[in-house]
Amino acid sequence: MLRVRRPAVTCAAAFAVFASVVTASIAHAQSRPLSIRFAESHEFEADEREFLVALAQQCGQALERAHLLTAERAARTEAEDANRAKMEFLATMSHELRTPLNAIGGYAELIEMGVRGPVTALQRHDLQRIQRSQEQLLSLINDVLNFAKLEAGKVEFNTRAIDVRETVDALEPLLAPQLAAKQLTLQSVDRTTTVMAIADEDKLRQVLLNLLSNAVKFTPDGGQIILSCAHDERQVYVRVQDTGIGIPTQYLGRIFDPFVQLERRLTNVVSGTGLGLAISRDLARAMGGDVTVESAPGSGSTFTVALKKAE
Ligand code: ADP
Repeated sequence: MLRVRRPAVTCAAAFAVFASVVTASIAHAQSRPLSIRFAESHEFEADEREFLVALAQQCGQALERAHLLTAERAARTEAEDANRAKMEFLATMSHELRTPLNAIGGYAELIEMGVRGPVTALQRHDLQRIQRSQEQLLSLINDVLNFAKLEAGKVEFNTRAIDVRETVDALEPLLAPQLAAKQLTLQSVDRTTTVMAIADEDKLRQVLLNLLSNAVKFTPDGGQIILSCAHDERQVYVRVQDTGIGIPTQYLGRIFDPFVQLERRLTNVVSGTGLGLAISRDLARAMGGDVTVESAPGSGSTFTVALKKAE
């Protein structure tokens, strides 16, 4: 009840009431008990009261919003600092792991070549296994290092107008051993015309190799992979289509998140970090493009790299 003794309204009194109601609104906003105090006695008219209360409530809400904004900014800065520390750790760790791994690969190769003396067939077989595992581990570590660099904004891009078709045509020989191991066919369609896009050629090659090696990994023996280029007025599209196991709809939105992989029982594939697609999409986006997917279990997957078309 705003019932007081002295009838005259003074500015000081009005301000005091106003300030008290503001305090009350803030207290209310922060779920503390509501309290109203008066500096001077005064009986307010209903419309004065209504006005002051409405004004006070709006100030209270504004202050509450300011309070939330400050808290949100502090939380964001904290999360960014934590993310930076994580990325720096990943970059340092991957770098440190690569040096001894390269030595393991190098010495295994020396022994296999017979530089240290004769090697039996059984030893050669084991040495080749060491080399394959070393290569696999190195590629996982490279993924982590690449991802950490990308997230830290430490990757430089040399974007210019390139002929996408040339980049696409140069990929087949790089994949030949993986394709042969699984009797997969790679068909490259629409070879004839030049398609110019704005891209960093090395980064585009890295994106397409990631998508192609996933297609190889997730397509059963004897399957088919189709590489195609298309364009419209604004964009160039490179598609990697496979006849593989496909991806259930509920996972489509998440497979581009770092470290996300479908459950092993669904894919039957053990290698990988779950970083390939995250890296590919980051690279494509940094070039002004994107990577998207369409897929359904049992009907294969189509990954599309979109790039800006060169004038
Ligand atoms: P990785 O291949 O190292 O597991 P990626 O980020 O490249 O990581 O892929 C994330 C996940 O998306 C894979 O583990 C797999 O479950 C799914 N995936 C990617 N490409 C395909 C594909 N062509 N067919 C089916 N599943 C795929």
